[in-house]
Amino acid sequence: AVRSAVEREAARRGVPLLIKPVGCTGICHRTPLIEIRPPQGEPVTYANLQPAQVAALLDRHLPVNPFTALARRLGRWLGDEVDAELDGRRYQLDDAESAPFTASQVHIATEGWGEHDPLDLDEYVAQGGFDALRMALRDGAEAVLTAVTAAGLRGRGGAGFPTGRKWRAARNAPGPAKYVVCNGDEGDPGAFMDRMLLESWPFRVIEGLAIAATAVGAEDGILYIRAEYPLAVTRIRAALATLEARGWLGAKLLGEGQPLALRVVEGAGAFVCGEETALIASVEGRRGTPRLRPPFPVERGLDGKPTCVNNVETLACVPWIVRHGAAAFAAHGSGGSRGTKVFALAGKVRRGGLVEVPMGMALARIVTEVGGGVAPGRTFKAVQIGGPSGGCIPAALCDVPVDFEALGRLGAIMGSGGLVVLDDRDCMVDMARYFLRFTQDQSCGKCTLCRVGTRRMQAILERLCAGTAQPTELAELERLAHQVEAGSLCGLGRTAPNPVLTTLRHFRAEYEAHLAGRCPAGRCTALIRYQVADGCTGCSACAQICPVEAIPFTPYARHVIDDARCTRCDACRGACPHDAIRIIDRGVACPA
Ligand code: SF4
Repeated sequence: AVRSAVEREAARRGVPLLIKPVGCTGICHRTPLIEIRPPQGEPVTYANLQPAQVAALLDRHLPVNPFTALARRLGRWLGDEVDAELDGRRYQLDDAESAPFTASQVHIATEGWGEHDPLDLDEYVAQGGFDALRMALRDGAEAVLTAVTAAGLRGRGGAGFPTGRKWRAARNAPGPAKYVVCNGDEGDPGAFMDRMLLESWPFRVIEGLAIAATAVGAEDGILYIRAEYPLAVTRIRAALATLEARGWLGAKLLGEGQPLALRVVEGAGAFVCGEETALIASVEGRRGTPRLRPPFPVERGLDGKPTCVNNVETLACVPWIVRHGAAAFAAHGSGGSRGTKVFALAGKVRRGGLVEVPMGMALARIVTEVGGGVAPGRTFKAVQIGGPSGGCIPAALCDVPVDFEALGRLGAIMGSGGLVVLDDRDCMVDMARYFLRFTQDQSCGKCTLCRVGTRRMQAILERLCAGTAQPTELAELERLAHQVEAGSLCGLGRTAPNPVLTTLRHFRAEYEAHLAGRCPAGRCTALIRYQVADGCTGCSACAQICPVEAIPFTPYARHVIDDARCTRCDACRGACPHDAIRIIDRGVACPA
C-alpha cells in the first residue's frame, strides 16, 4: 500500500521517480521502510510509514506543483484532510538508531541486505552473483567439496550435520542419476529465516543449489517450499523462469556446464515434512511420514536414487564460501561451529527482525546489543531457541555462545533459528504447553511414544495450567518426556520434549507454584483474576471496552470487575489510562 501511494503521488506531481523494490533489510520492527536517494546529497531513510503519510514525505523531498499545494491547503481548510502530516523526527530512521541493530551482524547468507531487487538477475550478476557457480564449474567438484568441508559449514536446518560430508557421501553413492533438494519447509512457530531468504535472495539460493548439484553430480533438483509461503514460491518460480530464458538452467548450467533441471514442489504444511525422509515421501506423492534410516537419503532417496537434501540457509552460504574461500568463512565462529547463523529474533525484544550473527556470539549479546533488550521496566527472563524442538535458556545462562555443542550442554538445540525472547510476564509452564501442543498436533502418528506419549504430556501440562494437577504428575511428566525422547523415530518426536525438559530443569519453581494453584507470571487464566486498584478515577474506559460486560458502568466511582463474568481477555488493562487494573494470583500481584 505504501509503494502504491508513492507511485500515485509521483504520477500526480508528474515527477519521474525511480522506485526500486528491495529484499529484506532485517529491520522488521521498523517496516515499512523507504529510503530516498536524491540525485545530490545523502540518502534518507523513513520507517513505520503509512500510506497517508506519503504525500507529506514527498513534499519534503520533491518540488511541489503550486496547484497541488493550493488544492491540498484548500482541502485542509475545508476539513477534507486526507494526508497525514509527517513528523520527520519520529519517522526518520537515523544511523544512531539503527546502528546497534546492525553493528554486530555479519552478512553472509544475507549479503547485500536491503540493497537488491530480488528478481533483478543483472543486478545480482553485477554484485558477483553466479561467479561462485562459474568457479565451481571451472574448478570441478573436488575443489567445491574441499572448500565446503574446510569452511566447516554445518546444516542450518537444525541437526548441524557437516555439509561437506553429506555432499561427499552423495557424490560417492553409486548410480548415474542423483537429486539435490532445497528444503524450504520451515514450519516452526516464530521462525521466518528461510522465508526471508527465499523471498529476498532467490538467485542466491538457486546458485547454492546449482553448486551442490555440480559437487554431487546431480542433473535434477527440487526446491521444496511450503505452500503457506506464496511469495517465496512465486519469486523462486520467477527466478527459475528468468534463468531458463537466459539459457543458464536446463541443458547447460550457465550455458557451459552440466545439465541441471530445477523445479518447485509445494509442501502442504506438515511440520514433519521438514524431516528429509518425510519430505522425500511427500515429493513422491505419498503421505509425508519419516522412515527408518539407513539407508540414508544420500544413498537411497527420491525414487530410490541418491538424494542430497540441504536447508535454505545452508545453500545461501555456499556461493559466499566459494567466492571468498573456506578460510574467510571459518574465520567466524567458535569450536566446531563456524561461519554465521541467521536468526528470526522475536518476542519481548525491542528490536525484532532477521539477524545474521557470527557463531560463537553469546545469546545475551544478541538479545541486548542487537535486539535492544526487553522493554523498560521489564526483566529479561529467558530465550526459547530453536522453536518447538529447541529449549528454554534462562537469562542467567545466556552467556552461552551460539554453538551447536554449547547449546546442547544446556539441553537445548540450535534448531533452525527461531529466537523468542521472554520477559517476566511469560509463564514457562504455559510456554512448554504451547510448544508441546504444536508438536503433538504435528506428530505424524507413526510412533506410539510420539503419538500417545506427547498427548499424555500435554494433558498433564493442561492440568498444571488449570491448577488441577497432582503433586506426583511432575515426576510423571519428566518420565514421559524421557520415554518420548528415546522411543521416537524422527527428530520431531525425539526433540518434542525439549521445551518441557529445559523448563523443568531451569524453572522448576514455576511448575511447583502451578501445583499449588499459582501462576507467578500471571498468565494462566484459570489461576488469576483481575482487580481494580486504588488509582481508579471512575473514567469508565474499562467498562466501555470489556467485551463481556464484566465491569458495571459506574462513572466517577471506583469500578469493580465481576470475577464470574471476566474471561481474562486483558482488554481492560490496556484501556485503563491510570494503570489501575491489577492481575492477582492468589492474592499476590503479578508482573503488570
Ligand atoms: Fe511420526 Fe513422531 Fe514417529 Fe516422527 S517421531 S515418525 S513425527 S510419530
